[in-house]
Amino acid sequence: MDPVVSIVAPAYNEAANLAAFVAALTPVLDGLGEPWEIVFVDDVSRDATLGLLLAARAQDSRLKIVGLARNFGKDVALSAGLAHARGRAVIPIDCDLQHPPALIPELVARWRAGADMVIAVRTRRSEEGLFRRTGARLYYGLMRRMTQVEIPRNAGDFRLLDRKIVDVINQMPERCRFMKGIFAWPGFKTETVEFQASARAGGRSTWSLWRLWRFALDGMFSFSTVPLKLWTYLGALSATGAFIYLLITLIQKIFFGIAAPGYASLLIVLLFFGGLLLLSNGIQGEYIARIFEEVKGRPLFVVAGKWGFDEPTVRTVPGTPADAPGPRDTAS
Ligand code: UDP
Ligand code: MG
Repeated sequence: MDPVVSIVAPAYNEAANLAAFVAALTPVLDGLGEPWEIVFVDDVSRDATLGLLLAARAQDSRLKIVGLARNFGKDVALSAGLAHARGRAVIPIDCDLQHPPALIPELVARWRAGADMVIAVRTRRSEEGLFRRTGARLYYGLMRRMTQVEIPRNAGDFRLLDRKIVDVINQMPERCRFMKGIFAWPGFKTETVEFQASARAGGRSTWSLWRLWRFALDGMFSFSTVPLKLWTYLGALSATGAFIYLLITLIQKIFFGIAAPGYASLLIVLLFFGGLLLLSNGIQGEYIARIFEEVKGRPLFVVAGKWGFDEPTVRTVPGTPADAPGPRDTAS
């Protein structure tokens, strides 16, 4: 029977959480009264994650596993999961129990009532400090002004996506997987449900401040061209300023005989514009680097092995190999 609800769970070094995760999720899914599947994506964990997944699958064949060929990062792992999920409703969720499975019935109920996307939004960023909270607020404000898509605040990957949204996302070829933006881009009827994020159950998060910063820039550069276009106006503004300064200097010299103060002002202006030019170069570089990544047209991910996918998976991500060779499932 085809699953109606697909759970997509990327897993990287989650051996400590997997048993609790499956134990929490299974009864909730059974309670839905629909056929379901869980698509785990093993992002080549260095611990026993894959072995545990295989053992769990031996108990319950509704657990399916996609093993990637190397660590591709959670956004690509999630994309790989979305490409393999077959349900009418697809729910990405983290394995570290930060996303409460108990919320799933409500997501599904909203979906049955007609919503195409139901986003689980964190109510309180309790475990985060003032610095990160303020940063997040500033960032979302800026993104809202700079991009066409509405990216909801405090929304992560935990949400329900209707099949039609998943199909659109599977066709989005960008290698830079800024999932917050990618989820928001297709549109459709979106609703939100609130939940309290809990602390990571085991292991540790890999988000350093530097990674957060790169992540924020990634989002900005892949969903907005404002940083690129800004320079036209900054250039025009500084040229106008320079012209006005020239006029002032001429008037001072001709009518008042004041010699233009030279050295200091020259140096300041020189350094200022040198900096501005380098900055604009750097920002252009960010876009060129992205063009370079996209233009290579490499597959988004490489699958090393699959368990639970007997029929060929419809892979709509352009450029991905149809069915990468790997250990095939024999259990079902
Ligand atoms: N993850 C992954 N590949 C990675 C890092 C993480 O598949 O390289 C998975 C991880 O197992 C978890 C989810 O992505 O299920 C979110 O990871 P994490 O908890 O580190 O991120 P955070 O919750 O801090 O956003
Ligand atoms: Mg987490």
